[in-house]
Amino acid sequence: MIQVAKIIVDVPTMQTNSPYSYLIPKQLTNELQVGMRVVVPFGNGNRKVQGFVVQIGMEEVDADQLKSIESLMDLEPVLNTELIQLSRWLADTTFSFQITCLLTMLPNVMRAKYSKQLKIVDDQMSEEQLADILPSTQWQDFETDTLSPLQQSELSKLRKQGKIEIVYRVKNQAQTKQIFQIESHINAEQESGIVDSLRKNATKMRDLVHFLANQSKIVSQTTLEKKLAISSATIKAGEAKGWLVRKKVEQYRDPYKEFKGKTTPLTLNQEQQTALDEISQSIEKSQAKTFLLEGVTGSGKTEVYLQTIAYALAKGKTAIMLVPEIALTPQMVTRVKGRFGKQVAVLHSGLSDGEKFDEWRRIKRHEAQVVVGARSAIFAPIENVGVIIIDEEHETSYKQDDAPRYHARNVAQWRSKFYNCPLVLGSATPSLESRARSERQVYQLLRLPNRINGHPLPKVQIIDMREELQTGADQNFSQPLLNAIDKRLNMQQQSILMLNRRGYSSFIMCRDCGFVLKCPNCDISLTLHMDSRSMKCHYCGHEEPIPKQCPNCHSRKIRYYGTGTEKVEQELKTKFPSARILRMDVDTTRRKGAHERILRQFGERRADILLGTQMIAKGLDFPNVTLVGVLNADTALELPDFRSSERTFQLLTQVSGRAGRADKLGEVFVQTFNPDHYAIQLAKTQNYENFFRKEMYIRHQGKYPPYYFTLQITAAHKEEKMAAQKMFAVLKELRPQLSADAVVLGPTPKPIARVKNKYYYQIVIKYKHEPNLHTAVTKILQESQSDYRQGIQLSIDAEPQSFM
Ligand code: ADP
Ligand code: ZN
Ligand code: ZN
Repeated sequence: MIQVAKIIVDVPTMQTNSPYSYLIPKQLTNELQVGMRVVVPFGNGNRKVQGFVVQIGMEEVDADQLKSIESLMDLEPVLNTELIQLSRWLADTTFSFQITCLLTMLPNVMRAKYSKQLKIVDDQMSEEQLADILPSTQWQDFETDTLSPLQQSELSKLRKQGKIEIVYRVKNQAQTKQIFQIESHINAEQESGIVDSLRKNATKMRDLVHFLANQSKIVSQTTLEKKLAISSATIKAGEAKGWLVRKKVEQYRDPYKEFKGKTTPLTLNQEQQTALDEISQSIEKSQAKTFLLEGVTGSGKTEVYLQTIAYALAKGKTAIMLVPEIALTPQMVTRVKGRFGKQVAVLHSGLSDGEKFDEWRRIKRHEAQVVVGARSAIFAPIENVGVIIIDEEHETSYKQDDAPRYHARNVAQWRSKFYNCPLVLGSATPSLESRARSERQVYQLLRLPNRINGHPLPKVQIIDMREELQTGADQNFSQPLLNAIDKRLNMQQQSILMLNRRGYSSFIMCRDCGFVLKCPNCDISLTLHMDSRSMKCHYCGHEEPIPKQCPNCHSRKIRYYGTGTEKVEQELKTKFPSARILRMDVDTTRRKGAHERILRQFGERRADILLGTQMIAKGLDFPNVTLVGVLNADTALELPDFRSSERTFQLLTQVSGRAGRADKLGEVFVQTFNPDHYAIQLAKTQNYENFFRKEMYIRHQGKYPPYYFTLQITAAHKEEKMAAQKMFAVLKELRPQLSADAVVLGPTPKPIARVKNKYYYQIVIKYKHEPNLHTAVTKILQESQSDYRQGIQLSIDAEPQSFM
């Protein structure tokens, strides 16, 4: 029996979910702890890779058989036992590898970065010889794929001859920010003496001495340099003379350094109070219970969340609150930070890697008790959790598209059980899955059926665009909507206009032959961009000039179809020349902070109209907005996805909820070509309950969730034949393991069959109880490691949120 460390290594193509055993070097036996990152040799070449220690224990092995840990990457564990346990469960239930899960749970900077180095190992080989192939300045940190094929083959030859070696090093990217603090070592009495000893024209030195002599507070070096307009050389000179000492200290990169807002708890109405009481009781009794808080838009859900968090904190516990990425607006941050101040850590994709790392460390060191963030914040290393809240729980962004394909709701449930604390799912339009669970009493349903202070829900009008077009209206604006906008401009009230981009874009088509300009790499049409005057692919980034004539029949009648936000903006400007318009879409929000700036301008009433894509539908609370216009309600209804009605209903309800939130009455206009569709009719009255019943009936008929589970397996390859063959092979292996009740769809090409020059084939399994499915699919995942080398990518998605 010897002591070994069990390690999950970071080698993407050689994964298994069982850890490898390594010897622990003598010097490290006392230092090594579970949850640390280490550098270990791996494979025949003994290349160095990063690994995570998941267990330390005794094992019956021959020491000669094992390799030894090379070095530690951390001096304290980066993962606690809860998160290691969670990663195992996550790998198992999402059919992914544990290393992928561990890396997903940690800040980006914990991902290993490898550098390559060329090393001469043969005495016969001279440096010049090698330098002929690759200049010696490039021996370190080179990327193989940046070398020419000739260089590659020469190096590869030398390596086979045993003349050179490629050494891999693991770089630790997790750097903290260090600053210098200045401590004065002189007092007021010494000032004149020192000043006399200086040269007459040494004014900067004199300023420094004066400051140090009269200052007892410690300041940072940069502050001092700015304050006195002196250079670091002056400070270093002062240090050399012994007037001051510079001390290196760590400083957090705080994204909300300037934050000042403050909010106080509101007196809750009866329904809010009941919801709070129920959840608080559960915190008090340490119950792992899930609540579904179904409240119409503007019913005060957020206030309930905040007071629930306050309750958990008062009990000495912590809280996690998830919001959809796009809803993490300054408004939301103000509400939470304003209530809980420095106790809050914020995690979202708008932060730099360094900021995220520092927020993460504040949580880990128990310096933050409340975590607010987007999907991946569910993995925050917070302990002693008292409540977990997921706002807008129906949002698709809570499901990750890449491996591990997890849903934050499921992870939250796991942690809720681990900490025996309640989980609160909030929404105006809960997912069918969650609402169905509350029907079966698996979740406890809490309702906020009314808006705060009895404000009515906005009045929604459906406009039949088929009729409008017949009366000569233009494609984007019906007459009633134009009148409504005009009225708001006269009354100095604000309007929000949404252009639904889902499944819709402005493409270009030849009126003579019907030719549509498509991406050469992907099976989708290119989108027209007026700002860069080009056609772009939204999947792979391919870009080309706008054609002047049809590439197919050379006709000049090649025209734009559909509408982009830019085009609508121009139309609006023509129609309302005096209106101040803000546009918010992927193009105007690409830069850091752009999103915040646009919303701030709108909030300060420096614009009359906010025109945007779906990203304006959520979470905004502007009291002066009394009109919401949806330009095209139904573009997503036609998508080949069984959730398209649900998505349409949710989006229309959400965006309507932006109107009339304060004392002014709100009005909503929904333009559509399908005015009789139930998703649109029921969104008109914001009747979630009726929508739920109708949609449940349809799902039952079609054997879809929440009545059935779904599992999607996809193969991708450069050659269509390979992807298809793989899926037929998978099906052949799987089918005998399934009962006759399981429904298998496919193999079929995906609705968008080719993306970035790869073909996608899928099967979808719909099932209720399949005891063998999990084991069979896990086996397929293991075997996929050998496909990887043939260039086949296999992905497995339990409960996919999109079938595109
Ligand atoms: P939701 O999250 O359900 O859309 P919010 O929490 O944003 O609703 O509440 C809507 C508005 O009502 C906000 O401006 C909020 O400050 C206000 N509000 C919430 N609860 C109360 C209350 N109990 N008393 C007064 N105003 C409230
Ligand atoms: Zn043509
Ligand atoms: Zn493309």
